[in-house]
Order: sequence, then C-alpha cells, then structure tokens
Amino acid sequence: MRNRILVISALIGAGILVSALAYAGCSSCGAGGGAKAAQSAEKGVINTACPVLGEPVAADTKYTADYKGKTVGFCCESCKSKFEAEPEKYSANLNK
Ligand SMILES: [Zn+2]
Repeated sequence: MRNRILVISALIGAGILVSALAYAGCSSCGAGGGAKAAQSAEKGVINTACPVLGEPVAADTKYTADYKGKTVGFCCESCKSKFEAEPEKYSANLNK
C-alpha cells in the first residue's frame, strides 16, 4: 500500500520535473520570451468567461485561441470559431 503511494508521488514529481525542464529550454532559446511563457502556463487562459457567450471558461479548457500574444479560452468549439472569425468584435468582452 505504502509503496504504491510512493510510486504515484514519484510519477507526479517526474512530470513536474519534465515540465520545468521544458520551460527552462524554452526561455533559454528566445530572448525575453520567458516571462510571457510563464504567464500563459500559469493559468492557461487569460479570461474566466467566454468572450462570445459569457459562459464560464475552465482554466484548462481545450478551446483556446491566441490573441495578441495571449491565450483566450472559450466555453465551446463554436465560440472559438466565432472569435477567430471576428476577434476585434469579441475581444472587447475580455476587458470586463
Ligand atoms: Zn461557447
């Protein structure tokens, strides 16, 4: 029983280590890109509400789009499509 917990802890630790190494490699290859990468990796998306419908957006949502260097999250695939078609129209909703 105890061993199984240790194995799981080790796997989680290894995953964090791999992630940390990936970010370290990224920030060392580009000048000034480290801070931006850390910001988007922190929460995943910059918004908590979908800019199209206003529905809540999960921090780890798979519906995302890049907008002016930031990651915008959406509640569903169709909202992502609408935003990408007219980003200027919906981006105003991000500042609320
Ligand atoms: Zn939606």
